Amino acid sequence: EAIRAELAERRRAEEVLRESEEKFRNLAEQSPNMIFINAMGRIAYANRMCEEMMGYTRAEFYRQDFDFLSLIAPEYLEFIRGVYTRHTAGEDVEPYEYDLLTKDGKRINVLITSKLIKYEGQKAILGIITDISNRKRTEKLLQTFNKAALEMERALTPESIFTVMGEELNRIGYSSVVFLADENKEKILLKYLSYHPDVVRAAEEMVGFPAEDYAVPFSALKGMEPVLEHRTPILMNGAEAARSLLPMFPKMMAKRVAAMLKAASISVISPLVAENDLFGLLIIQANELTENDIPAIAAFSHQMAASWRKARLMEDLSSSLEELKRTQEQLLQSQKMEAVGRLAGGVAHDFNNLLTAITGYADLLLLDCAEKDPMRSDLQEIKNAAERAGSLTRQLLAFSRKQMLQPRVLDLNEVVGSVEKMLRRVIGEDIELHTELAPELMPVVADPSQMEQVIMNLAVNARDAMPQGGYLTIETANRICDREFVSAHPDLPPGRYVMLAVSDTGVGMDRETQSQLFEPFFTTKDHGKGTGLGLTTVYGIIKQSSGDIWVYSEPGKGSTFKIYLPIAGEFSEEGQEETPPKIDLRGTETILLVEDESLLRDLAFRVLHRNGYTVLEAGNAEEALRLAEKSKALIHLLVTDVVLPGGMSGTTLAERLVGQRPEMQILFISGYTEGAVGKTEMLRSEAGFLQKPFTPDSLAVKVRELLNAKVKS
Ligand code: ADP
Repeated sequence: EAIRAELAERRRAEEVLRESEEKFRNLAEQSPNMIFINAMGRIAYANRMCEEMMGYTRAEFYRQDFDFLSLIAPEYLEFIRGVYTRHTAGEDVEPYEYDLLTKDGKRINVLITSKLIKYEGQKAILGIITDISNRKRTEKLLQTFNKAALEMERALTPESIFTVMGEELNRIGYSSVVFLADENKEKILLKYLSYHPDVVRAAEEMVGFPAEDYAVPFSALKGMEPVLEHRTPILMNGAEAARSLLPMFPKMMAKRVAAMLKAASISVISPLVAENDLFGLLIIQANELTENDIPAIAAFSHQMAASWRKARLMEDLSSSLEELKRTQEQLLQSQKMEAVGRLAGGVAHDFNNLLTAITGYADLLLLDCAEKDPMRSDLQEIKNAAERAGSLTRQLLAFSRKQMLQPRVLDLNEVVGSVEKMLRRVIGEDIELHTELAPELMPVVADPSQMEQVIMNLAVNARDAMPQGGYLTIETANRICDREFVSAHPDLPPGRYVMLAVSDTGVGMDRETQSQLFEPFFTTKDHGKGTGLGLTTVYGIIKQSSGDIWVYSEPGKGSTFKIYLPIAGEFSEEGQEETPPKIDLRGTETILLVEDESLLRDLAFRVLHRNGYTVLEAGNAEEALRLAEKSKALIHLLVTDVVLPGGMSGTTLAERLVGQRPEMQILFISGYTEGAVGKTEMLRSEAGFLQKPFTPDSLAVKVRELLNAKVKS
C-alpha cells in the first residue's frame, strides 16, 4: 500500500514537473528574448528566438561538439569565463552586456540576465538575452546628434554648419543632404551632400550637370505634404525618396542615381524651420532608421535650423561691418586727396599769377629787343624756365581738378590710336605693345588731349616698371556697373561706362605703395627720375571727367590701371574747340580790365594798350563798378579775373555790368574753373575764358575774337 502510494505520489510529481516544464517551454518559445540553458558547456536548451537571431538550428545548438564560445565576440570571452566561474561558486551575477556573433558573423549587442539552476541533476546556467542593439543605436544616434549640435553652435559660417553635421553623421555611417529654398521660395537648391566626392562625380556625369546646380521646384516635390505643410519629418524608403527628390528624371534614372549615391534604403526627410519660416530640408539616410528615430531627428533639425539662422546673422553682421570699414577707409582716402588737392591747387593758383607775369614781361622785353641784342637769349631762357614751371603748375591744377578741360564727345579707341605710334617710340623695343579695343565702344565725354596725356603717363610708368622688357596692354570695353559694383567704388553712380585698362608685366607694387600712388610727389624712383606727378595728373583728369581710376597690382606680377568713364549722354556737349583763324590783333575799342594782382594787371594793360585799345583798370569789383558808372563812353569788353578780393566775384561783377550795358562782351581769366565759374550759365554760353598762365599773345587773340564776334552779330 505504502509503495503504491509512493508511486502515485511520484507519478503526480512527475506530472507536475512535466506540466511545469511544458509551461516553461511554452513561455520560452513565445518569448521575444533568447532563452537558453547551458549545462556545463553544452547547450541543453535554446528557444525559437535563439534560432531566429543567431542563425543556427536547434539541432546544431544541441550537438555534443557545438562550441558555445564561438557565439561570443572574442573580446568578451575572458569576461564571460569569469562570469561562469562566479556562477558555479554560487555568487549572484548582475545582468551584463556583451556582443554575440551570429552564424553569418553579424554582431548583436545584447543584455543578459543569467542564473545558476539545477538541470537534470547538474549545475547549469539559465540565460535570458535581450537584443539591445537597437537601443544602443538610438543612444549612439542621440549622442551623435548632441555632438553635432554642439559643433554646429560653434560653426562660424552657415556652410560650415552643414559640413560639421555631415561629418559627425558620417562617423556613424549615416549620410546627409541639405536643400535650401531660394529667395522666392519657389524651389529648393542642393547645398550639401555628404556622399563621397567620387560617387558624386559619377552621379553628376550620369545626370549631365553639377550637383550644385540641382534644384527642384517645391511644386514638383512628391509625397512631401507632411514636411512642407505640417512641418513634420517623414520616413521614406530609398525608392520613394529618390522619386520624390529627383522628380524631373524618369523613375529608372532616379533609382539609378540613388543607387549610385548609395543613398541608403531609408531616408528621413525633415523640414528646416526657423522663426516659423521653412527655409530648407534636411535628409538623413541610413539603413536602420525607423519611425522611432523621427522625434530625435525632428529635434535635431530644429537645432540645425537655429544654428544656421544664427550663423547667417553673424555673417551678415560681419560683412556689413567690413563694408563700413571699407567705406570709412575710402572716405578717409578721398578726404586726404581732397585736402592735398586744395593745397596743391592753392599753390598752383598763386604760382600761375607769378608765372604769367614772368613770361608776359619777358615777352614784352623780347618785343622791344633788337634781333641781335645779346639779351635776347637770356630773356628766352627766362621764358623757357617759366614755361617749364608753368607745366608743373598745370599738373598740380590737374590734380586738384581745377584746370580748364575742353571736353567733347570722343571715342577712346581713337585716342588710343592717335598715341599708339608715339607710345611705341616711348616704350622702346624690349616692350611689346598689345591693344585690345572693343569694336563698338560707346563714346565718352573727355578732353582728348588730356586723355592722351593719361595714356602716355600710364605707359611711361609701365615702361619704367619693366626695365627687362615685357608686355604693355591697352584695353577698352563697354561696361555696365550695377549697384554691387558701385558699392565697391562709391564714387561712381550705377550706369554705363567705358573702361580703359593699361596693364604691364612689370615689377608691380605692394599695398603700401598702392595706397599712396596718386598723391602728388609720391615717387619710388631715383631723385631726378620721377616727379611723382604722373599719376597725380592722371587722377585729377579722370576725376574731373566724372570717372574713377584704381589699380590692381601684386609685387612681381605686374599692374593694371583701370579707368572708368561714364558714357556720353549725361553731359551736354560742350563747345567744341576749333583752331583759331589768323586775325588782326589790333583794335580801338574800350576795355575794362579787372585784376587784383597788380603784376598781372600791368602786364595785361600793356598788352592791350600796345594793340591800340583804350584800357580802364580796376583792382576789384567795386572799383570796376565805380569806373563803369563814371565812364560815359561805350565799354566794349570786360576782362576780369574770376576770383576777386572783397566779396564780389568776377562773375557777379559781370552779371551786374551786363545788366547795365547789354552790349558789353565778357572775358574771364582764371587759374581754374571750379565753383562759380564752372556753373555760371553766362560763362558757358557767351563769355570767353582765358586760362592762366596766359601769354600776351593768347590774351590779344581772345580779346579780338570776342570783339569780332560782336561786330558780326
Ligand atoms: P613717377 O612716375 O614720377 O614716380 P607717378 O605718380 O607716375 O610718378 O608714379 C608714382 C609711383 O607709383 C612710381 O614712382 C612707382 O613707384 C609707382 N608706379 C606707378 N605706375 C607703376 C607701374 N605700372 N608699376 C609699378 N609701379 C608703378
